[in-house]
Amino acid sequence: MNGPPFDDIAGQSSGYPLDALIADLGDIPVETSPAVVRRRSRDFFWYSPILNEELSGKSADLIATPRTEADVVRIAGACARHRVPLTVRGGGTGNYGQAVPLAGGVLLDITELSAIDWVKPGIVRVGAGAKINQLDAELALKGWELRMHPSTKRTATIGGFVAGGSGGIGSINYGGLREPGNVIAARIVTLEETPRVIELRGEAAQRINHAYGTNGIITALEMPLAPLWRWIDVVVAFDDFLDAVAFGHRIALADGVVKKVLAPVTWPLPSYFGALRPHCPDGRHLLLAMVAEPSLESFKDLLAGRGTITLETPTDDSPGKVPLYEYTWNHTTLQVLKTDRSVTYLQCLYPHDRLLEKAAQMRSLFPDEALQHFEFIRFNGNVTASGLPVVRFSTAERLNEIIRLHEDHDVGIANPHVYTIEDGSRYKKAEADQLGFKYEADPFGLLNPGKMRSFAARTN
Ligand code: FAD
Repeated sequence: MNGPPFDDIAGQSSGYPLDALIADLGDIPVETSPAVVRRRSRDFFWYSPILNEELSGKSADLIATPRTEADVVRIAGACARHRVPLTVRGGGTGNYGQAVPLAGGVLLDITELSAIDWVKPGIVRVGAGAKINQLDAELALKGWELRMHPSTKRTATIGGFVAGGSGGIGSINYGGLREPGNVIAARIVTLEETPRVIELRGEAAQRINHAYGTNGIITALEMPLAPLWRWIDVVVAFDDFLDAVAFGHRIALADGVVKKVLAPVTWPLPSYFGALRPHCPDGRHLLLAMVAEPSLESFKDLLAGRGTITLETPTDDSPGKVPLYEYTWNHTTLQVLKTDRSVTYLQCLYPHDRLLEKAAQMRSLFPDEALQHFEFIRFNGNVTASGLPVVRFSTAERLNEIIRLHEDHDVGIANPHVYTIEDGSRYKKAEADQLGFKYEADPFGLLNPGKMRSFAARTN
């Protein structure tokens, strides 16, 4: 048998010796109210109509909230001895059911492990449960910020970003989390009868990167930092979407212009943009940019009147405000979903050497069906764009056809309508060192079972 029976379980799975498990947890806070546990067993998988059918109803049996790493070790040991699955939850903002327990068991709320251990020039060591916005606010006091963050910065944890995310605001400068040097070290607890605490440094830390918490519970991370800038949110309107893409590309390549996000967005997506709507002229396409204040003049020089600046204001992500980055990356989909639940999205990677050509080609293939927006990034040292088009959903068959047509035209897809690491990756497999490490760190296949499908658990 490949680990716990996740296929046929929905809701209260039980069959697990939960009373004995809870007794072993001592004074560690445990929540068993079914309504609370079910609600917190969800993430943002409902963005996908396909996952929404497959995953609704899946739930843990209880939530355990460790206060220290010693608590994590105690919970992990108890789960291993009683053969109860364990799924870690940070902010619960993942998109592919990453934090949804398919086989019930324990949902481990990691958010109390949030202390900053230390900050040194260019590097921070922090508990994995730290909220990214709180972490950045602390770092700002010392003149630093994280190199990159997801557009869910205000709700996501740093551990969830490393275990479930890929990149985001800042990736135009530093690439994604997978680029060497973007995760310096991770401390993990194994899921064994006598759990081990292991420090993974350098390349070894990549084992837990985007592994959905299937091969270790991350308790702390060392992350590299960037110097803090005063960021300015800038919106530029263009008559032609491809002009917005071309100008974004020009700025992306202008190494002297300091920026943090560059996102061309096609009309009519801005018509859904809530608080930003007054800065989105009807029928016009936008470039959303975060530019360092000292680079604004150079940004405008390069624009040279080809587009109209409709907003220029310091980035403000304090409570009650909506920063510009919450219209980029997968927040664009969210802005549309607020009024139109019939849409979904895709995650594309454009070839760096034919970027504008491919953008035009995909636009002509799906003029009204896949509404484009791009996020410029660095990838393997080249400037290219990730695309998260908002797709008008009709059927699963048509969605798969749209995916195939992108791939046939050399636009890579990381499919967000599947829940395993393998199916979601562009290469349809788990990294060998991630799979190998799972045999070491989770021999019984109890960590987030069902998400790394290449793994075959020990049966005794
Ligand atoms: P969770 O959802 O709680 O967990 C994510 C995965 O990591 C789960 O598999 C979970 O089990 C595992 N995990 C969490 N903590 C740990 C731990 N301590 N140890 C081991 N495993 C752990 N992602 C991006 O990369 N870039 C974006 O710009 C971006 N934008 C988004 C916009 C929207 C509107 C939404 C809904 C999602 C977006 N995402 C994006 C996805 C997601 O928000 C991010 O990946 C985020 O960083 C996840 O953090 P979290 O704390 O919410 O993780």
